[in-house]
Amino acid sequence: MDKMNFHIMTLFPDMVMNTLDTSILARAMNNGLIACEAVNIRDYTLRKNNRVDDYTYGGGAGMLMQAQPVYDCWKSIQDRLPKKSRVVFLTPQGRVFNQKIAEDLSKEDDLILLCGHYEGIDERVLDEIVTDNISIGDYVLTGGELPAIILVDAISRFVPGVLGNESSASTDSFQDGLLEYPQYSRPEVWHDKRVPEILMSGDHAKVDAWRLEQSIERTRERRPDLYKSFLAK
Ligand code: SAM
Repeated sequence: MDKMNFHIMTLFPDMVMNTLDTSILARAMNNGLIACEAVNIRDYTLRKNNRVDDYTYGGGAGMLMQAQPVYDCWKSIQDRLPKKSRVVFLTPQGRVFNQKIAEDLSKEDDLILLCGHYEGIDERVLDEIVTDNISIGDYVLTGGELPAIILVDAISRFVPGVLGNESSASTDSFQDGLLEYPQYSRPEVWHDKRVPEILMSGDHAKVDAWRLEQSIERTRERRPDLYKSFLAK
């Protein structure tokens, strides 16, 4: 089984690694199923004061990350890899991330994730190295670190062995275009609320039918956009 390797280009490596090195992803790293490295873009600047940002041509508020340190950082990673890797730039201007994109990206052996900061990154280096522009939603964050963490998490769930129970990813919300059905654990009665009788019937066919019905109803209520696509399938 191949390990999936994430290479995260960032100005804040500790922020990324401290978060990823927790719970299920920490276990996946310890078990050699995924590997994550955060590479500090600042280490590649040629400027004496360690700066990586400068004013934008044409005026406007804020600073921009310069092309040189980003390019050299990318090259130092790419030169270590056996083949040309996809480079995902986290940007509010990208395709909005979803479960299908996560599954697609999970097929890569190596994935380079580029986190912007300040007002973003000089367009010329983006033109040269980026293969995919991905956004995590229509809002603007201060940096690409949280989006990169979100991608690593969602993608890793598709790497075989990362989830203890292999079937969990396949029944999750979005996997079949529907939201997941409601779930219950012990006790049988809590705050006078009883677990639906059918779930204790032991009749798997009936349980499956009930869950599908619940999924459809929940999707119709909460995500009419998904429901419409589900009906059109
Ligand atoms: N000036 C940029 C624009 O309008 O497109 C926004 C820059 S934002 C303040 C700084 C960095 O945060 C971006 O370069 C990007 O890496 C990251 N970022 C912000 N919002 C994001 C989002 N919704 N999805 C992915 N990355 C985002």
